[in-house]
Amino acid sequence: MKMKAAMLYGVNDLRIEDIEVPEVKAGEVLVKVKAATTCGTDLKIFKRGYVEKVIRLPTVFGHEWAGEVVEVGEELEWPKKGMRVRAGNSAACLHCRMCQKGKYNLCENMIWLWGAYAEYIKVPARMVLVNMQEVPERISYEEAAITEPLACVLHGVEEAGVKLGDVVTIVGAGPIGLLHLLTAKKMGAARIISIDLVEERLNFAKKLGADETINAGEENVVERVQQLTNGYGADVVIEAIGLPVTWEQALKLVRKGGSVLEFGGCPPGTEIEIDTELLHYGEVTVRGAFHATPLHFKKALNLIASRTIDVRPLVTRKMTLDKIKEAFEILSTTKSEIKIAITP
Ligand SMILES: [Zn+2]
Ligand SMILES: [Zn+2]
Repeated sequence: MKMKAAMLYGVNDLRIEDIEVPEVKAGEVLVKVKAATTCGTDLKIFKRGYVEKVIRLPTVFGHEWAGEVVEVGEELEWPKKGMRVRAGNSAACLHCRMCQKGKYNLCENMIWLWGAYAEYIKVPARMVLVNMQEVPERISYEEAAITEPLACVLHGVEEAGVKLGDVVTIVGAGPIGLLHLLTAKKMGAARIISIDLVEERLNFAKKLGADETINAGEENVVERVQQLTNGYGADVVIEAIGLPVTWEQALKLVRKGGSVLEFGGCPPGTEIEIDTELLHYGEVTVRGAFHATPLHFKKALNLIASRTIDVRPLVTRKMTLDKIKEAFEILSTTKSEIKIAITP
């Protein structure tokens, strides 16, 4: 049996092809994709490539999805045929040294699943056990697909230590920056300052609850944050872009004793400079956060399902799988769309 799939061959080279529907072996599950959502990581890979450990080309592209189980491999009692599920995009091994330390997101034998932009996706046996969940009836497939980025953001916000009453500054108002905004609000941030270069995105951040916005192309960001915080700086600063220049800028926006979360992944081989006085006399905590653990995926889906975090506004456009190239062209040339939901 053949299916339509969007194959990524290299930078800017995405093709719709007819390929074989994957064969299901023991422990594996075949899912009919009902919705997939575009992601900043996809766009980064489409425009500049990525680390081979995570994606090996050519491959079916896309990693945020949800769908309906159509085939269940032998030896599996769960899930059932017809069940609405989401899974992945990773599954830790549970027994390497990192997993033994509870750092499942840093698993040394992590498996990654690509293939959301297709009619069917096969979930590997380990992922069925470690990172697949049933999707409640009350939410849509596209909402469920957003579990993956929200899981990463949850992990990040936990690491950043957002507390009740905090002033949180978020550098970047793309899909990930906006998810940070929604999550930090729910964690009790009293005030959120959102920074970006694109006015449309700042307006969007305002709609989602940002108290102040700063256009980094028009204003001096450091001065403006100082002004808005009576000269102290923010309690927590979250960088959600992934450039050394914004990583360094984030360090200049935090108050003494505050924390900076460097969330966006920078191009390989890059470095930043840190003022030693900031760490010593300022007691500033600087942390990174990568990916998420299986528990974060479960929590993220629960938060979406209860609409504690309402991700619906983030899907600003819907397109069909055969228009996928157009979708990525739109995402690379305009900043007006946040996430595009792709349906086969
Ligand atoms: Zn993603
Ligand atoms: Zn492991």
